[in-house]
Amino acid sequence: MRKTPTIIAVDGLSGSGKTSISKAIAKHYGYEYLDTGSVYRAVTLLALKNGLNVDSFDESNKDTYAPLLRELKKANFSFTYNSETDTAIAKINDTDVTKELKTPLVSNLVAKVSKIEDVRVWVRGFQYKYAEGKDIVMEGRDITTVVFPNAKIKLFVTTDIDVRAERRAKDYERLGKFVSIETVKKDIEARDHLDIFRKHSPLKITTDAYVLDTSYKTIDETIAEAISHIEEKLQNSKKD
Ligand code: C5P
Repeated sequence: MRKTPTIIAVDGLSGSGKTSISKAIAKHYGYEYLDTGSVYRAVTLLALKNGLNVDSFDESNKDTYAPLLRELKKANFSFTYNSETDTAIAKINDTDVTKELKTPLVSNLVAKVSKIEDVRVWVRGFQYKYAEGKDIVMEGRDITTVVFPNAKIKLFVTTDIDVRAERRAKDYERLGKFVSIETVKKDIEARDHLDIFRKHSPLKITTDAYVLDTSYKTIDETIAEAISHIEEKLQNSKKD
């Protein structure tokens, strides 16, 4: 009999390091990996590329965002991760958009798109198709709560806001963009607020999630802690 796929669900705040941790876990176990933030970012980019005014989207008025739903039906999204080379590539209709997904423009608009329940329904469908039959690490904001509420392994990654702002500013620097730590901090706080207080699938910690606080630990220490927790869970589920 075929073994039931293992799902490792990871949620956490922007800039908490959940992406590096999730990728390291996927690499360690040889699992597939999907960063669902990239999917919401790609949906936002699709809207921008089609000249839609994302600022005017109103979740309670479908007419304002219906053109995006039409574009989503036609679009072809692809997300691949090569753990050997640690490269995640995102494509929309065969065009590589990996770098564009991380620009401040997309970062500042994505929470406006992701709060729309019709968009979330579309993204959930995409996530389920992606995960079908696979051992997978999936990370995002609602993976432990809404997408895979029954996942046996759940992690919630959190970090102090100042540490997150510093890290994100460095990420921008690597992309050749210089944004002050103060500006990044304000943007992160605004996005946290939208993610935590939105009506649909808000970010929250489930009682069965293991909380990883990465503020004052190195990435290697955090990964080791995550893997030791996962090992324990995997051993326990063998006994069930
Ligand atoms: O993880 P990342 O910062 O790339 O996520 C970008 C945005 O996508 C989040 O701020 C959130 O608005 C949205 N998101 C979401 N649900 C997920 C993953 C991301 O709403 N599962």
